Amino acid sequence: MIEQSLPGLAVVGGGPAGLMAAEFARASGLAVDLYESKGSVGRKFLIAGKGGLNLTHSEPLGSFATRYGARQAEIGRWLQAFDADALRRWAQELGVETFVGSSGRVFPRDMKAAPLLRAWVRRLRESGVRFHAHHRCVGLEAPGVLRFETPTGELTVSAPATVLALGGGSWPQLGSDGAWTTWLAAPELAIAPLAPSNCGFDIGWSEHFAARFAGHPIKPAWVTFSDLDGGTRQAQGEFVITATGIEGSLIYALSARLRDAIARDGSVRIELDLAPGRDAARLLRELSRPRQGRTFSEFLRRNAGIQGVQAGLLRELVPTSDLNDATALIPWIKALPLTLQAPRPLAEAISSAGGVALESLDPMLMIQSMPGVFCAGEMLDWEAPTGGYLLAASFASGRLAAAGAVRWLDERRKQMPPR
Ligand SMILES: Cc1cc2nc3c(=O)[nH]c(=O)nc-3n(C[C@H](O)[C@H](O)[C@H](O)COP(=O)(O)OP(=O)(O)OC[C@H]3O[C@@H](n4cnc5c(N)ncnc54)[C@H](O)[C@@H]3O)c2cc1C
Repeated sequence: MIEQSLPGLAVVGGGPAGLMAAEFARASGLAVDLYESKGSVGRKFLIAGKGGLNLTHSEPLGSFATRYGARQAEIGRWLQAFDADALRRWAQELGVETFVGSSGRVFPRDMKAAPLLRAWVRRLRESGVRFHAHHRCVGLEAPGVLRFETPTGELTVSAPATVLALGGGSWPQLGSDGAWTTWLAAPELAIAPLAPSNCGFDIGWSEHFAARFAGHPIKPAWVTFSDLDGGTRQAQGEFVITATGIEGSLIYALSARLRDAIARDGSVRIELDLAPGRDAARLLRELSRPRQGRTFSEFLRRNAGIQGVQAGLLRELVPTSDLNDATALIPWIKALPLTLQAPRPLAEAISSAGGVALESLDPMLMIQSMPGVFCAGEMLDWEAPTGGYLLAASFASGRLAAAGAVRWLDERRKQMPPR
């Protein structure tokens, strides 16, 4: 076993939160060593850029913070020090211009993550941050004493301060596999179990329906659902039929409530309006007309504008007797019940809920029971919908944790007796 002693900050995890922590600490004059289990940093960040890297959102901080639900007060405070404008300026300094899309989301002009990550890592290296790839942290022996598995054997590193930015548990093949929840566990540190967020859900289609319609979008989708407090809410957007259920932006946005309702009740029902532009009276008029020998599909398409996957859903879920009776069919069209049985596994989700409880941390994100050990990013217990909110909070928390480490080391230095 090799042992090393560091002069400054150890950052573990090379995602957006860890890289931002390294950058802030180095700019504040600390020596920084960054450890990453994979062969390169920022793998999830690169994947996030595949469908268009949504860096942050342009809405005002007040409404921005509400996206973090129960954690809006804390995360609103993190974002005050590094808000969307600051993030855009930071990207610009790296040579990456951003723009605000029609939805208010902020993207790099070329939509990609790779040029930004390349420029960022180059700047970090030039500033003196030392990168240690293929270093997998497997234990925190004591505050500031980290144990790593490396290609050349085990390594123990002692550092005056540490930022852990180990990510959540989604897409584990990219490095953040949630294994830290085991070795970081301590009686005085609360860690909520990791759970899927921004995820799809299983419904359990028939083989025929899945084979025919998996991949088909429902667009626009008008959905009604019961909130956890029993109130009825409506939402519109779009989603996609999958082999086992549904996924997509509208479902991701509702995923926290749907997941929690399933955990409480075993399943949750949402209702889909298949003819949002037509009310029940109009549908009754149109569907009461004689069929004149037309097939059911053709009749439905001509008279109610319902076809393709929407018609498939009716065939899948409505009893045959009701399909042939206009009066019985209309309630199904206006409120087709979809019963969601389970969220898809964490490994498939866009992000994680759960993680280190904010109550276990001080306002600068130091673990209260582990002096000098700070946490940042998705490994903390918060969640948010897609829209740039995940990266925004990861960046802001990385910066805050590093600021905390800088301040903490400074205070410790002042307390030391003069030599
Ligand atoms: C497909 C997809 C698309 C996304 N798109 C967007 C988007 O457009 N906008 C948005 O805001 N968010 C998006 N996200 C979410 C966003 O990528 C994450 O929220 C963000 O990367 C979290 O940053 P992080 O630094 O906390 O964790 P991560 O990015 O997960 O980084 C953690 C790092 O720690 C390393 N690590 C883990 N354990 C260890 C260990 N034991 N030892 C050493 N290293 C370790 C990992 O290898 C990883 O590099 C997307 C996610 C996915 C999966």
